[in-house]
Amino acid sequence: MTNVLVTGGAGSIGSYVCEYLVARGENVIALDNGPSLKVEHLFDSGRFSFVQDSVLNKDMIERLVDKVDVVIHLAAIADPKRYVTEPLNVLNVNLKGSLYLLDRCASQKKKFIFASTSEVLGRNPKVPWNEDADRVLGPPSINRWCYSTGKALIEHYCYAYGQQESLPFVIMRFFNVYGPRCDDLGQGRVIPIFLEKFLKGEPVVVHGDGKQTRCFTFIEDTANAVVELSLNPKAQGMCFNVGSDRETSILELAENMKRVGGFANELVFKPHLEIFGKSYEDIPRRIPDVGRIKEVIGWQATTELEDGLKRTIDFYRPTASASVTGR
Ligand code: UDP
Repeated sequence: MTNVLVTGGAGSIGSYVCEYLVARGENVIALDNGPSLKVEHLFDSGRFSFVQDSVLNKDMIERLVDKVDVVIHLAAIADPKRYVTEPLNVLNVNLKGSLYLLDRCASQKKKFIFASTSEVLGRNPKVPWNEDADRVLGPPSINRWCYSTGKALIEHYCYAYGQQESLPFVIMRFFNVYGPRCDDLGQGRVIPIFLEKFLKGEPVVVHGDGKQTRCFTFIEDTANAVVELSLNPKAQGMCFNVGSDRETSILELAENMKRVGGFANELVFKPHLEIFGKSYEDIPRRIPDVGRIKEVIGWQATTELEDGLKRTIDFYRPTASASVTGR
């Protein structure tokens, strides 16, 4: 039995990861600064506990790390709107919090599993991206890149601690994770934002011409990969793309959601500048090369986008008339 600390454990990906770990018989401590709503069903398992606090509380971080064998660090601010409006918070949480954990994991020889992001590679035009592809970013004066840079710096720290202090680590780069129990409707990423509009019968706003693409990865597939990468010794010391390699344009996504959900909303287009102001830059295409994760742990995303969208829409739909917030 492995003792695991999951930071961001009551969040979108974290709540699934905790669930899967508990189901496998591991002992789990979830740390989250938000409420325990998404993990309450785990309390009766006898193998799950919850701490509501911030990763910026260094003393508490050290105490928790000392209790476990593996730390899965998912806690982060990962909402593109907030990169622009709260760059200081984004940097502080993503950098300082990660460093407290890394320091302690290194000194106590605990395994550190880091949730990085496809954002690290910025807008590298040569898709698909393998894990060693170049980072192509804009200048630090464009707030958009603060998230990417913070995550990349922690990746550097993983390699440095690994090399100089024998820290066991795994880096995971997520690609546009979506699904039930993810963000609140209207918040965070494009799918919950579109879905809120669809459910309210309002126009769905596609940024730019909608030709920019993403590879949407279902949350259950993602969480399965996280658990396997965390516990499988073959993954140690490496970085992995965790994503679907099906490329979908944002316009196609809107049309798919409209069809799958049986909606009749109008789709409208708005320039990025009007939405985000100057401190933002969109990524034209983002596609992972998923060869490494398949080869090392035999994982690949299996949920078709239409199926995942249907399950997501069905999850949020019943509560929509009472209050248009996520569950
Ligand atoms: N997007 C959109 N309408 C919205 C929200 C997002 O067209 O209401 C676009 C956004 O400009 C980007 C894509 O959807 O091109 C994915 O955005 P998201 O915020 O999910 O995250 P990203 O992949 O850009 O980090």
